[in-house]
Amino acid sequence: QENASLAGGGIAFYQPGQDETHQRELTMIRDLPSALTSGQLFVVYQPKVELNSGQCHSAEALIRWQHPQLGFISPVEFIATAEHSGNIGLITQWMLQTVIKQLAAWRQEYPGLRVAVNLSAADLLDQGLPAQIGRLLTQHQVPASALALEVTESAVMQDTSKVIANLNTLKAMAINLAIDDFGTGQSSLAYLKQLPVNEIKIDRAFVKDIETNSNDALIVNATVKLAHGLGFKVTAEGLENQAGLRFLQDAGCDTVQGYFFSKPLAGKEFSQWFTDFASRAQPVEELE
Ligand code: C2E
Ligand code: MG
Ligand code: MG
Ligand code: MG
Repeated sequence: QENASLAGGGIAFYQPGQDETHQRELTMIRDLPSALTSGQLFVVYQPKVELNSGQCHSAEALIRWQHPQLGFISPVEFIATAEHSGNIGLITQWMLQTVIKQLAAWRQEYPGLRVAVNLSAADLLDQGLPAQIGRLLTQHQVPASALALEVTESAVMQDTSKVIANLNTLKAMAINLAIDDFGTGQSSLAYLKQLPVNEIKIDRAFVKDIETNSNDALIVNATVKLAHGLGFKVTAEGLENQAGLRFLQDAGCDTVQGYFFSKPLAGKEFSQWFTDFASRAQPVEELE
């Protein structure tokens, strides 16, 4: 077995679990291409609720992998592996294709629906990405405004001229762009203001204990104000309870996503949830 410490010429120490981890990674890398075509990978959709209207008009698409031997693998794990092994493009392509096709079907019933797809850092360096997305939208007759893309702070901080060129092209196509996991990276809102982005998503880390942690409360309040001042919409991620909802309403947050409203749902379940939620059409006070 290859060993990084030996390759570096230093003294190698045996780390228990290292081989198993390595084996698991190799298995994921080996099986990813066939998983894409055999139904092991699928997409779940998590609703986003607008606090002003109490309505849902959008969702985030999240990938899932049910592996025949390894069982359920978290996207946090296999996305990282795909990024390391240079396979992330395969996943992104598959996601875009699957989600845009689903959007085409859903928009027959729900014309205003928008869905967001997550991109990785490497996707943003791919100069062919905007044209590829454009082809998929045309092929499925989905308007670009129905698609949103989420990119993390760290992804937009890399090799910025290439990334900014791609983001500008995507924005000019009328695709919505969001900064994901805001607050966990190194960038500032002032820097992000220069990017052609519509929305920031405040990371769950600041939202999950918002009703009890006064530092989180302070951070969220300040972020919402600053973001609005700079012209961004604000989404809070990971809302789990009613007390948190009240806080986010008072803070002036535009949109909320989290288990409080719904976990990510398979396509059919999402349709059902969406129809039920729309038929309740509650103003936001009645969400409480
Ligand atoms: P993310 O884009 O920040 O997605 C939000 C994550 O928070 C999702 O985890 C979602 O299930 C979870 N979440 C939402 N609301 C709640 C809540 O109220 N409580 C808790 N505990 N969790 C909540 P998930 O689906 O495991 O995805 C994790 C990360 O994996 C994503 O974070 C994203 O960075 C990445 N990911 C998922 N799908 C894709 C994909 O298709 N492409 C890429 N590049 N990355 C993806
Ligand atoms: Mg996301
Ligand atoms: Mg996020
Ligand atoms: Mg996250």
